[in-house]
Amino acid sequence: MSSRSLSLCWGGCKGTRKSEKQWQASSGLFTRGWPARSRTEGKAMEFLAGLLRNSPEARKAWERYKGTEITSEEYLQRKIDRMNAIEGDLEGQDCRKCRNKGVIYFMQDGCEVAMKCECLKARESRRRLKASGLEKLIERYRLDNFQCFKPWQEAMRRKAEAFLAEGGDSWFFAGGQPGIGKTHLCTAIAGELLSRGNQVIYMLWRDESVKLKANVNEPEYQKSAWLLKNCEILYIDDLFKTQYDEFSGKPKPPTVGDVNLAFEILNYRYNNRLKTIISSEHTIDGLIRIDEAAGSRIYEMSKKFCVSFSRDPSKNQRMV
Ligand SMILES: [Zn+2]
Repeated sequence: MSSRSLSLCWGGCKGTRKSEKQWQASSGLFTRGWPARSRTEGKAMEFLAGLLRNSPEARKAWERYKGTEITSEEYLQRKIDRMNAIEGDLEGQDCRKCRNKGVIYFMQDGCEVAMKCECLKARESRRRLKASGLEKLIERYRLDNFQCFKPWQEAMRRKAEAFLAEGGDSWFFAGGQPGIGKTHLCTAIAGELLSRGNQVIYMLWRDESVKLKANVNEPEYQKSAWLLKNCEILYIDDLFKTQYDEFSGKPKPPTVGDVNLAFEILNYRYNNRLKTIISSEHTIDGLIRIDEAAGSRIYEMSKKFCVSFSRDPSKNQRMV
């Protein structure tokens, strides 16, 4: 069970048999209409009166009452079952485990415990994807519509399919030549993993890195960096993509801040073997030239699933 479960000790003497209404009364709960305690008292009065009169009706009433007795555990389990049966209103996917409430109740050592449902991670991923604009791309970019006119395109798609089939902790890297379908392929992988219920966090490098570097001394940085480092699957789109230099017309080289940020995230994920998908206009060799430590970690983790093309893929393609 989750270590972040919330425990609500309900109390009560284990094994004691009372009616469900009595348990409700002793736990401070009431059913709709009238207070449980007054009904319990009414039952007791009815019973006492019956004893005094020694009537068959009173005996029957007592038998009926006896038949409703349950232990505290049984009462608690009924209460938990009722709470779990309530339908919630969370949107984005239909989860039958928590019935779209995001929380599941269960009994542990005689106490009622609430645990976050796994679907919350996927819901958070979807919320972030929606905010980042990737949601529409996921609808458009799928593996089944990745066009393969050339053998190297077919090979790219096979790598993506193999990556999805493996399910281990390997990384996927698509780099090099612009316009060869890197974003299509990586987005299709991210969409497929998301549809399987995984937590996928999208990081558009050019935007997110600027925000992170600007907040490096703020508490916000730690929060954002923590998620990027610890999320189940991270998709970094256009790693080390920089703005164009207005004089030379060429992309500016990544700054020391860019390199430090990339290393911080990638090294953490490398050490913890967390699945990562990376697209970049730099080839794997180019990344190693920019920063050997970060580049070599990408190379090592994505050995089996690396597609990296130099400027003209028809003449010089490298698929490791
Ligand atoms: Zn759920």
